[in-house]
Amino acid sequence: MFQSQVSMLVAGLFGLQMAVVFAVLQRTPGMGRAGLNSWAVGDLLVTAATVLLAAHDYLPEWLTLNLADMVMTAALSLMVYGTRCFFGRRGRAGALCLLNLAVLAGAVYFDWSGAPPSGPALLFALANIYLPLALLRVVAAQVPAKRGTGRLAALSLGLIALACAGMGVYQAADLALLPAGLAWLAKGPPEGTFTLLHAFGIVSLSVSFALMAHDSLRRRLEHRASYDDLTDLLTRGAYWEALEDACKQADRLQRPLTVAFIDLDHFKAINDLYGHLAGDSVLRHFSGLLRKSVRTGDFVGRLGGEEFGIVMPDASLDQGRAISLRLNMLVRATPCPSEPDAISYTVSVGMAERLPGEGADALMRRADNALYDAKTMGRNCVSTQPVERIAGMAKTPRMRISQAS
Ligand code: GH3
Ligand code: MG
Ligand code: MG
Repeated sequence: MFQSQVSMLVAGLFGLQMAVVFAVLQRTPGMGRAGLNSWAVGDLLVTAATVLLAAHDYLPEWLTLNLADMVMTAALSLMVYGTRCFFGRRGRAGALCLLNLAVLAGAVYFDWSGAPPSGPALLFALANIYLPLALLRVVAAQVPAKRGTGRLAALSLGLIALACAGMGVYQAADLALLPAGLAWLAKGPPEGTFTLLHAFGIVSLSVSFALMAHDSLRRRLEHRASYDDLTDLLTRGAYWEALEDACKQADRLQRPLTVAFIDLDHFKAINDLYGHLAGDSVLRHFSGLLRKSVRTGDFVGRLGGEEFGIVMPDASLDQGRAISLRLNMLVRATPCPSEPDAISYTVSVGMAERLPGEGADALMRRADNALYDAKTMGRNCVSTQPVERIAGMAKTPRMRISQAS
């Protein structure tokens, strides 16, 4: 009757392994996503179903098949639920429970009413069409935009889900032909084959989903390593790397490169007056204005507490200064929304244009010197250190180039 008890146990072991994979993924630091436990339990259910099938010699036949099918329907439902939760959508646990109860009630009714054995199987086949398609629908909306493992895994999950649903259609058509007196047209495989294939299908879905989850974790960790949590700007390390690359490119292309070093004025007083949470809001607010002010292709980073940097490739000091003045004015004109009153704040900016052969450290040091000038000149302004005066920098008094007022 069954193709092979060994194949059942292989599918079961495969499911057990995937349950372990999901348990490990769930506990991986940084994952913090709901839904993976549902996949782990779903895989354990598949293992239970395959053990039931392998033990068919010791159990009544109708019970073996129907119970295994029911357990697998529950497993697939849990996976749909888990996938929805993983992607931050409502799990629809109620609707999925209802579907399982309806399938169970229908299967029990068919058995008790003496209907042919194809009755319950038809119900399971219909569930096997709906559930993989429901899974496919959720995953299709979440395919990563960038090429890579995540996209490949989503694609393979989609194909397997379609194959599972296709198998359900084939099984349902086959079962529907029997009572219609068209048994000669029904060329379905031996009983139990669909259940076995279905078990393999579900576990293969698990492999693809585990890859998707792992890829999403990797991308999140990569993002966290390069982007600041509070402001979502480049971290100091990532900013420095971008600046070093920009310096090399400026040398190669013989193009200008300008940087800005920005510091929020009297930020400690903002914290003291409004509290640290409000201070954090101001930092986020400023980051938004900063992003708005720069050109496409510029890099912005958070270099420290309330210190930020802009790398402006292909920009002369004058062009860079125009951007910084615009930012300075935008900050003054746009207080940070807060209760009960919006918080007004200002920024000081130090700027420097890269000298031929100059590296990231020396360039930022000059911008920092210019920022120091801006602070000593009363804050809320943009200061630059003209390239031609660098040679005598130590001896020459620092000059205020412009004040944004
Ligand atoms: P100046 O105009 O001279 O720059 O004065 P300042 O008060 O802005 O500079 P100071 O270096 O004295 O203070 C910076 C403050 O920024 C101190 C620190 O508590 C605060 N700060 C650093 N990081 C954060 C943060 O992530 N959130 C909040 N709310 N405050 C921060
Ligand atoms: Mg500071
Ligand atoms: Mg400051």
